[in-house]
Amino acid sequence: MKAAVLYNYDEDLVIEEVPIGEPGDREVLVRIIATGVCHSDLSAAKGKSRPPLPIILGHEAAGIVERTGSAVSKVRKGDHVILSWAPNCGECFYCHKRLPTMCDTYGAAAGGGTLWNGARRLGSAAKPINHFTCLSSFAELAVVPESSCSKIEKDIPFEVAALVGCAVTTGFGAVVNDARVEPGEVVGVIGVGGVGINAIHAASIAGAEAIVAIDINPEKEGVARSFGATHFLNSATQDVAAELKALSRGRGADSVIDCTGRPDAIALAYDSARPGGSVISVGIAAKGEMVCLPASTLPNTQKRVIGSNYGGGVPERDFERILALYCAGRLDLDRQVGKRVPLDEINDAFRWLEQGVLARTIVCFDH
Ligand SMILES: [Zn+2]
Ligand SMILES: [Zn+2]
Repeated sequence: MKAAVLYNYDEDLVIEEVPIGEPGDREVLVRIIATGVCHSDLSAAKGKSRPPLPIILGHEAAGIVERTGSAVSKVRKGDHVILSWAPNCGECFYCHKRLPTMCDTYGAAAGGGTLWNGARRLGSAAKPINHFTCLSSFAELAVVPESSCSKIEKDIPFEVAALVGCAVTTGFGAVVNDARVEPGEVVGVIGVGGVGINAIHAASIAGAEAIVAIDINPEKEGVARSFGATHFLNSATQDVAAELKALSRGRGADSVIDCTGRPDAIALAYDSARPGGSVISVGIAAKGEMVCLPASTLPNTQKRVIGSNYGGGVPERDFERILALYCAGRLDLDRQVGKRVPLDEINDAFRWLEQGVLARTIVCFDH
């Protein structure tokens, strides 16, 4: 199959033919149709998250089931599927705690660049290639755990389904599962990117009264407002905490969602939240970075600082909720699909992402 391989950090991906193995008992061979290029791919390619090399990146994808292992019962050949980048085993401590995105079995696999139990299906025996988040979707085909696959209706566009596989669910879930935004609330969203747009959109659907988009790039205002932001603040030039207090009768925002992962932005989110309010940390900081918070205020303000991974819920359940809202015309996902490019142009897609081009570039395969 044709795939994009990362051999060295901070270098272009190499487009080449790569051998792919047959799916194991509980694995599925999926023909990738659409895959988004997300910031986590960029962080991996730049070496910030230091995945094992060589590796095939890509974790926001949808496709068609091509072949299933002997013990697979969840999907069958021809099914259209969204791929989850946090498959779970259903049997470990965290799966039993109903925290499936923390699954121990997945954690070991993803950390080691493999599928379950150390299996690799990419590359040759002499020259193995690592898996990324058990998906590796920057390729014509992917072998994935059965639990990565969520069947969807055949009328859902693959580009939309791919977006639901990461950015949409991450932003939507942060608002619905973690911030638990209620009608009439004041919500701040720091970082108007692929995830931030979805947090803004979800807050709007949840009935927030004021949705304040915060970014250092004033050009993001238009798109933020088009997805439901009622206000826009430039954190480089405005006092965000003071403005949010002014919008909430002096209290501060009910919740502030940071989608940037920048330590100063997380501290700003903390300053901007009201006593008893929520600070939701979604964006991923570079390894080793620390956040500084005013310790004396932690007990008496009772602010809740919450980490949010993949929307903080059960991704598969959230996929269904999101697609139901999309099919009802309430969630605008079509407008989030940016340029469609072939795999050969994936390095350009990475550069656009770095330059801050907002709409998601989707690599599409013309099988
Ligand atoms: Zn992603
Ligand atoms: Zn598990």
